[in-house]
Amino acid sequence: MIASHLIAPTDIDVSWSDIAGLDTVIQELRESVVLPVRHSDLFQRSQLWRPPKGVLLYGPPGCGKTLIAKAMAKEACMRFINLDVAVLTDKWYGESQKLATAVFTLAHKLQPCIIFIDEIESFLRMRATGDHEATAMMKTQFMMLWDGLISSTSCSVLVLGATNRPQDLDKAILRRMPAQFHIGPPLECQRLAILQVILQHEQLHPSVDLKRLANLTPGYSGSDLRELCRHASIYRMRQFMRDIMVKEGSVMDEQLLDDSELVISMDD
Ligand code: ATP
Repeated sequence: MIASHLIAPTDIDVSWSDIAGLDTVIQELRESVVLPVRHSDLFQRSQLWRPPKGVLLYGPPGCGKTLIAKAMAKEACMRFINLDVAVLTDKWYGESQKLATAVFTLAHKLQPCIIFIDEIESFLRMRATGDHEATAMMKTQFMMLWDGLISSTSCSVLVLGATNRPQDLDKAILRRMPAQFHIGPPLECQRLAILQVILQHEQLHPSVDLKRLANLTPGYSGSDLRELCRHASIYRMRQFMRDIMVKEGSVMDEQLLDDSELVISMDD
Protein backbone atom coordinates (compact mmCIF):
# COMPACT_ATOMS: atom_id res chain seq x y z
CA MET A 1 0.00 0.00 0.00
CA ILE A 2 1.08 3.55 -0.70
CA ALA A 3 2.71 5.15 2.33
CA SER A 4 0.08 3.70 4.61
CA HIS A 5 -1.85 0.68 5.83
CA LEU A 6 -5.37 -0.09 4.75
CA ILE A 7 -7.64 -1.93 7.18
CA ALA A 8 -11.15 -3.20 6.46
CA PRO A 9 -13.67 -2.54 9.27
CA THR A 10 -14.11 -6.29 9.79
CA ASP A 11 -10.38 -6.63 10.51
CA ILE A 12 -10.34 -3.95 13.19
CA ASP A 13 -9.95 -5.60 16.58
CA VAL A 14 -11.16 -2.67 18.71
CA SER A 15 -14.73 -1.63 19.46
CA TRP A 16 -16.35 0.92 21.77
CA SER A 17 -16.56 -1.71 24.53
CA ASP A 18 -12.74 -1.86 24.69
CA ILE A 19 -12.55 1.84 25.54
CA ALA A 20 -13.20 2.86 29.13
CA GLY A 21 -13.90 6.21 30.75
CA LEU A 22 -14.52 8.13 27.52
CA ASP A 23 -18.30 7.79 27.24
CA THR A 24 -18.98 11.47 26.49
CA VAL A 25 -16.49 11.58 23.58
CA ILE A 26 -17.83 8.28 22.23
CA GLN A 27 -21.41 9.55 22.41
CA GLU A 28 -20.52 12.73 20.51
CA LEU A 29 -18.62 10.79 17.84
CA ARG A 30 -21.54 8.41 17.51
CA GLU A 31 -23.89 11.31 16.85
CA SER A 32 -21.63 13.38 14.61
CA VAL A 33 -19.83 10.68 12.58
CA VAL A 34 -21.04 7.11 13.05
CA LEU A 35 -24.80 7.58 12.64
CA PRO A 36 -24.54 9.98 9.67
CA VAL A 37 -22.30 7.47 7.85
CA ARG A 38 -24.47 4.47 8.67
CA HIS A 39 -27.67 6.30 7.69
CA SER A 40 -26.29 8.57 4.99
CA ASP A 41 -29.58 8.65 3.03
CA LEU A 42 -31.37 10.17 6.01
CA PHE A 43 -28.73 12.76 6.78
CA GLN A 44 -28.22 13.87 3.15
CA ARG A 45 -31.72 15.35 3.14
CA SER A 46 -30.57 18.26 5.29
CA GLN A 47 -29.06 21.25 3.49
CA LEU A 48 -28.01 22.86 6.76
CA TRP A 49 -26.14 20.11 8.52
CA ARG A 50 -23.35 17.98 7.11
CA PRO A 51 -21.17 15.49 8.95
CA PRO A 52 -17.63 16.87 9.58
CA LYS A 53 -14.92 16.01 7.02
CA GLY A 54 -12.21 16.63 9.60
CA VAL A 55 -11.99 15.46 13.22
CA LEU A 56 -9.12 16.11 15.64
CA LEU A 57 -8.34 14.02 18.71
CA TYR A 58 -5.78 15.73 20.93
CA GLY A 59 -4.20 15.01 24.28
CA PRO A 60 -1.22 13.35 25.98
CA PRO A 61 0.23 10.04 24.75
CA GLY A 62 -1.34 6.72 25.66
CA CYS A 63 -4.80 8.02 26.58
CA GLY A 64 -6.82 6.32 23.84
CA LYS A 65 -6.73 8.46 20.66
CA THR A 66 -5.74 5.58 18.37
CA LEU A 67 -8.20 3.26 20.10
CA ILE A 68 -11.03 5.73 19.46
CA ALA A 69 -10.01 6.20 15.82
CA LYS A 70 -10.07 2.46 15.12
CA ALA A 71 -13.26 1.79 17.08
CA MET A 72 -14.99 4.61 15.22
CA ALA A 73 -14.03 3.10 11.84
CA LYS A 74 -15.33 -0.29 12.97
CA GLU A 75 -18.62 1.05 14.37
CA ALA A 76 -19.26 3.20 11.29
CA CYS A 77 -18.21 0.35 8.94
CA MET A 78 -15.60 2.63 7.36
CA ARG A 79 -12.36 1.50 5.80
CA PHE A 80 -9.33 2.80 7.66
CA ILE A 81 -6.24 4.19 5.94
CA ASN A 82 -3.50 4.65 8.51
CA LEU A 83 -1.33 7.25 6.79
CA ASP A 84 2.36 6.90 7.50
CA VAL A 85 3.48 10.50 7.76
CA ALA A 86 7.19 9.61 7.86
CA VAL A 87 7.03 7.93 4.45
CA LEU A 88 4.96 10.74 3.00
CA THR A 89 7.37 13.47 4.12
CA ASP A 90 10.50 11.49 3.22
CA LYS A 91 9.74 11.22 -0.48
CA TRP A 92 11.66 13.07 -3.13
CA TYR A 93 10.51 16.41 -4.49
CA GLY A 94 7.12 15.98 -6.14
CA GLU A 95 6.72 12.37 -5.03
CA SER A 96 4.93 13.22 -1.79
CA GLN A 97 2.36 15.29 -3.70
CA LYS A 98 1.65 12.28 -5.93
CA LEU A 99 1.31 10.10 -2.84
CA ALA A 100 -1.11 12.51 -1.19
CA THR A 101 -3.23 12.51 -4.37
CA ALA A 102 -3.11 8.70 -4.49
CA VAL A 103 -4.27 8.42 -0.86
CA PHE A 104 -7.26 10.72 -1.40
CA THR A 105 -8.16 8.98 -4.67
CA LEU A 106 -8.02 5.61 -2.95
CA ALA A 107 -10.11 6.85 0.00
CA HIS A 108 -12.67 8.19 -2.48
CA LYS A 109 -12.89 4.81 -4.22
CA LEU A 110 -13.18 2.94 -0.93
CA GLN A 111 -15.67 5.23 0.78
CA PRO A 112 -16.97 5.31 3.41
CA CYS A 113 -13.38 5.71 4.55
CA ILE A 114 -11.26 7.32 7.27
CA ILE A 115 -7.81 8.73 6.51
CA PHE A 116 -6.14 8.53 9.93
CA ILE A 117 -3.04 10.68 10.51
CA ASP A 118 -1.29 10.09 13.82
CA GLU A 119 1.01 12.94 14.90
CA ILE A 120 -0.68 15.12 12.31
CA GLU A 121 1.26 18.18 13.52
CA SER A 122 4.50 16.63 12.26
CA PHE A 123 3.64 17.41 8.65
CA LEU A 124 0.76 19.89 8.87
CA ARG A 125 2.40 22.18 11.41
CA MET A 126 2.41 25.95 11.42
CA ARG A 127 4.22 27.44 8.48
CA ALA A 128 7.77 28.47 9.30
CA THR A 129 10.31 30.47 7.30
CA GLY A 130 12.73 27.50 7.26
CA ASP A 131 10.16 25.16 5.66
CA HIS A 132 11.47 23.20 2.69
CA GLU A 133 9.74 24.14 -0.58
CA ALA A 134 8.66 20.55 -1.14
CA THR A 135 7.04 20.44 2.33
CA ALA A 136 5.14 23.65 1.69
CA MET A 137 3.91 22.35 -1.69
CA MET A 138 2.84 19.07 -0.17
CA LYS A 139 0.83 20.88 2.51
CA THR A 140 -0.89 23.05 -0.09
CA GLN A 141 -1.68 19.99 -2.19
CA PHE A 142 -3.03 18.15 0.86
CA MET A 143 -5.31 21.04 1.77
CA MET A 144 -6.61 21.30 -1.82
CA LEU A 145 -7.48 17.61 -1.81
CA TRP A 146 -9.14 17.99 1.58
CA ASP A 147 -11.17 20.98 0.33
CA GLY A 148 -12.40 18.74 -2.49
CA LEU A 149 -13.85 16.43 0.17
CA ILE A 150 -15.38 19.29 2.13
CA SER A 151 -17.17 20.76 -0.87
CA SER A 152 -18.63 17.42 -1.95
CA THR A 153 -22.00 16.75 -0.37
CA SER A 154 -22.11 13.04 -1.16
CA CYS A 155 -18.52 11.99 -0.44
CA SER A 156 -18.06 9.97 2.75
CA VAL A 157 -14.37 10.39 3.48
CA LEU A 158 -13.15 11.75 6.80
CA VAL A 159 -9.68 13.02 7.71
CA LEU A 160 -9.09 12.06 11.33
CA GLY A 161 -6.02 13.57 12.97
CA ALA A 162 -4.42 12.75 16.31
CA THR A 163 -1.83 14.86 18.09
CA ASN A 164 -0.13 15.48 21.42
CA ARG A 165 0.74 19.03 20.30
CA PRO A 166 -2.38 20.78 18.92
CA GLN A 167 -0.67 24.16 19.46
CA ASP A 168 1.80 23.29 16.66
CA LEU A 169 -0.91 22.72 14.05
CA ASP A 170 -1.37 25.16 11.23
CA LYS A 171 -4.49 27.32 11.83
CA ALA A 172 -5.67 26.52 8.31
CA ILE A 173 -5.63 22.83 9.24
CA LEU A 174 -7.52 23.44 12.50
CA ARG A 175 -10.24 25.23 10.52
CA ARG A 176 -10.70 22.10 8.41
CA MET A 177 -11.33 20.06 11.56
CA PRO A 178 -14.50 21.53 13.08
CA ALA A 179 -14.95 18.58 15.47
CA GLN A 180 -12.18 18.56 18.08
CA PHE A 181 -12.03 16.32 21.14
CA HIS A 182 -9.67 16.51 24.08
CA ILE A 183 -8.66 13.05 25.27
CA GLY A 184 -7.08 13.95 28.60
CA PRO A 185 -5.28 11.98 31.30
CA PRO A 186 -7.79 9.70 33.05
CA LEU A 187 -9.30 10.73 36.40
CA GLU A 188 -9.54 8.21 39.23
CA CYS A 189 -12.98 6.90 38.19
CA GLN A 190 -11.76 6.60 34.58
CA ARG A 191 -8.63 4.73 35.70
CA LEU A 192 -10.85 2.27 37.55
CA ALA A 193 -12.95 1.75 34.41
CA ILE A 194 -9.79 1.28 32.29
CA LEU A 195 -8.35 -1.27 34.75
CA GLN A 196 -11.65 -3.17 34.65
CA VAL A 197 -11.52 -3.32 30.85
CA ILE A 198 -7.83 -4.28 30.68
CA LEU A 199 -8.26 -7.04 33.27
CA GLN A 200 -11.69 -8.27 32.22
CA HIS A 201 -10.42 -11.67 31.04
CA GLU A 202 -7.81 -12.21 33.79
CA GLN A 203 -8.26 -14.35 36.85
CA LEU A 204 -7.46 -11.97 39.70
CA HIS A 205 -6.26 -12.86 43.18
CA PRO A 206 -8.92 -11.94 45.80
CA SER A 207 -6.49 -9.44 47.35
CA VAL A 208 -6.50 -7.27 44.20
CA ASP A 209 -8.41 -4.07 44.93
CA LEU A 210 -8.88 -2.17 41.66
CA LYS A 211 -10.42 0.86 43.40
CA ARG A 212 -7.29 1.23 45.54
CA LEU A 213 -5.10 0.74 42.47
CA ALA A 214 -6.97 3.50 40.63
CA ASN A 215 -6.50 5.74 43.66
CA LEU A 216 -2.74 5.04 43.79
CA THR A 217 -2.09 5.80 40.12
CA PRO A 218 -2.65 9.54 39.52
CA GLY A 219 -0.90 10.65 36.33
CA TYR A 220 -1.02 7.15 34.79
CA SER A 221 -2.36 7.02 31.24
CA GLY A 222 -4.38 4.05 29.95
CA SER A 223 -1.20 2.83 28.32
CA ASP A 224 0.71 3.09 31.65
CA LEU A 225 -2.04 1.10 33.39
CA ARG A 226 -1.84 -1.61 30.75
CA GLU A 227 1.96 -1.78 31.23
CA LEU A 228 1.49 -2.03 35.00
CA CYS A 229 -0.88 -4.97 34.57
CA ARG A 230 1.41 -6.58 32.01
CA HIS A 231 4.38 -6.37 34.41
CA ALA A 232 2.28 -7.88 37.20
CA SER A 233 1.35 -10.77 34.95
CA ILE A 234 4.98 -11.30 33.82
CA TYR A 235 6.08 -11.26 37.48
CA ARG A 236 3.42 -13.82 38.39
CA MET A 237 4.29 -15.99 35.38
CA ARG A 238 7.97 -16.03 36.43
CA GLN A 239 7.01 -17.18 39.92
CA PHE A 240 4.72 -19.77 38.42
CA MET A 241 7.51 -21.10 36.16
CA ARG A 242 9.91 -21.22 39.08
CA ASP A 243 7.40 -23.23 41.14
CA ILE A 244 6.98 -25.63 38.24
CA MET A 245 10.72 -26.16 37.96
CA VAL A 246 11.04 -26.74 41.72
CA LYS A 247 8.22 -29.27 41.78
CA GLU A 248 9.69 -31.03 38.72
CA GLY A 249 6.87 -32.14 36.54
CA SER A 250 3.91 -31.65 38.88
CA VAL A 251 2.72 -28.93 36.50
CA MET A 252 -0.98 -29.68 36.78
CA ASP A 253 -0.93 -29.57 40.57
CA GLU A 254 -4.19 -27.86 41.73
CA GLN A 255 -2.28 -25.65 44.18
CA LEU A 256 -0.11 -24.27 41.37
CA LEU A 257 -3.13 -23.42 39.23
CA ASP A 258 -4.71 -21.56 42.18
CA ASP A 259 -1.49 -19.61 42.56
CA SER A 260 -1.64 -18.45 38.94
CA GLU A 261 -4.14 -15.71 39.80
CA LEU A 262 -2.86 -12.25 39.03
CA VAL A 263 -1.68 -10.15 41.98
CA ILE A 264 -1.14 -6.43 41.44
CA SER A 265 0.58 -4.55 44.19
CA MET A 266 1.78 -0.95 44.33
CA ASP A 267 3.77 -1.52 47.54
CA ASP A 268 7.18 -2.21 45.87
P1 ATP B 1 -0.15 8.17 21.28
O1 ATP B 1 -0.42 9.65 21.39
O2 ATP B 1 1.15 7.78 21.91
O3 ATP B 1 -0.34 7.63 19.89
P2 ATP B 1 -2.81 7.28 22.05
O4 ATP B 1 -3.53 8.37 22.77
O5 ATP B 1 -3.14 7.07 20.60
O6 ATP B 1 -1.24 7.45 22.24
P3 ATP B 1 -3.59 4.55 22.35
O7 ATP B 1 -2.59 3.99 21.37
O8 ATP B 1 -5.00 4.67 21.87
O9 ATP B 1 -3.07 5.94 22.88
O10 ATP B 1 -3.57 3.69 23.70
C1 ATP B 1 -2.49 2.83 24.04
C2 ATP B 1 -3.01 1.65 24.83
O11 ATP B 1 -3.40 2.08 26.14
C3 ATP B 1 -4.24 1.00 24.22
O12 ATP B 1 -3.92 -0.01 23.31
C4 ATP B 1 -4.96 0.45 25.45
O13 ATP B 1 -4.43 -0.80 25.82
C5 ATP B 1 -4.60 1.44 26.54
N1 ATP B 1 -5.63 2.48 26.73
C6 ATP B 1 -5.43 3.81 26.62
N2 ATP B 1 -6.55 4.48 26.90
C7 ATP B 1 -7.50 3.56 27.17
C8 ATP B 1 -8.89 3.63 27.49
N3 ATP B 1 -9.52 4.81 27.62
N4 ATP B 1 -9.56 2.47 27.69
C9 ATP B 1 -8.94 1.28 27.58
N5 ATP B 1 -7.64 1.15 27.27
C10 ATP B 1 -6.91 2.26 27.08
